[in-house]
Amino acid sequence: MAKTVLVLGGAGYIGAHAAKALAGRGDLPVVLDNLSSGRRDFVRWGPLVEADIRDGAAFDAVFKTYRPDAVMHFAASIEVGIGERKPIEFWNNNVAGSLSVLSAMQRNRCRSIVFSSTCAVYGTPSLLPLRENHPRRPINTYGQTKLAVECALEDAARGGIIDFAALRYFNASGASPDGDIGEEHEPETHLIPNALKAAAGIGGPMQVFGTDYATRDGSCVRDFIHVDDLAAGHLLALDRLSETGESFACNLGTGRGVTVLEVLDAVEAVVGRPVPRKLSGRRPGDAPELYADVGFARDHLGFRPRSSAIGQVVQDAWRYHAPRFTPVAA
Ligand code: UDP
Repeated sequence: MAKTVLVLGGAGYIGAHAAKALAGRGDLPVVLDNLSSGRRDFVRWGPLVEADIRDGAAFDAVFKTYRPDAVMHFAASIEVGIGERKPIEFWNNNVAGSLSVLSAMQRNRCRSIVFSSTCAVYGTPSLLPLRENHPRRPINTYGQTKLAVECALEDAARGGIIDFAALRYFNASGASPDGDIGEEHEPETHLIPNALKAAAGIGGPMQVFGTDYATRDGSCVRDFIHVDDLAAGHLLALDRLSETGESFACNLGTGRGVTVLEVLDAVEAVVGRPVPRKLSGRRPGDAPELYADVGFARDHLGFRPRSSAIGQVVQDAWRYHAPRFTPVAA
C-alpha cells in the first residue's frame, strides 16, 4: 500500500534523495523544510510546506491536510565545527526541534518515525567495526544532540507513544546518478566535494587533515556510503517499522573503511587530474578510524549497499558537481 510520508528536511541533501526514492516506489513524500540550508529546487517529488520544525501550528495543519502514515526526520544542523562554536543553536534546532516533532506526532496520532542519527553518537571507538551496542559517548555537540534525540525516542517508545528507527549514518556521499540532486553545503567542509573542487582547480589546494594516524597510509579511515544506498535503507527501515512495530537503532554504512588518501586517488582517477593538496595537522574531533558493523542492517533490514564502491561514489559526485564548477571544470 502506498504511503504518505512527511519528510522533514526533505529539501536537503539526504532528505531529497529519500523523497526521490519514496516517490520512485509510489509513495508520496510531503516535504516540510524551512529552507535555511535546503534548496527549493530539490523538492520535486511532492508538495513543499515551508515551515520550521519548531512550529507546532504548521505541523498540525500539515497533519490535517495530508494525514501522513509516517515521518522521516532529516531536519537538523549538521556541521560538526559549527556545533562547537554554536552549541545552543544546535541544541535548539536538533533537540528542541525534535521534541516539537514528537509532540506534533503525539497530538496527531502518527506513530512511526525514521530518524537521521549518526555514527558520531559513538564518539571515539573502543572496538571496530562499530556495532550498535557500542557505548554512546559523543565527543562533540553534534553527536551529543543526536544522542539526546535517540534517548527521547527511546523514552517515547517505552511510553507507547511512537515507534522509531534511529539510523546511524556513516559518511553520506555521492549523488543521484541522474545529476539532479547532490551534496552542497555552505561552507563546504566534506572531503569528497572539497577534493573534487581542488581537482577542478577551484579555490587552490585542499587540506588533508592528518597523515600521522596509525592507519595503513597515515590518513583517517571512513566508511563512505552512497546517498542512494542510504535512501534505500530508509525505505527498508520504514517497512520494517510498519510491519513489526518494533523500534530499533541501526548502522547504515558499508562495513569497509577507505582512507582519505585513497579517496583522493579515486578522485584523480575519475577527474583525470591531480588533486592539489596541503598536508595539514589533525582536525580536532576527528577519530582516526570509523567503519560500521553492518550485520544488523543486513540481517534485519535486508540492506545491501549497491552503489557504494568508492569509485562509483566519486563518479556520481563528479557528475553532479562538474557542470556546476564552471568555467574551470570540463
Ligand atoms: N578531510 C580532509 N580534508 C577536507 C575535509 C575532510 O582531510 O577538506 C578529512 C577529515 O579530517 C576526515 C575525513 O576527511 O578524516 C572525512 O571528513 P568529512 O568532513 O568529509 O566527514 P566526517 O567523517 O567528519 O563526518
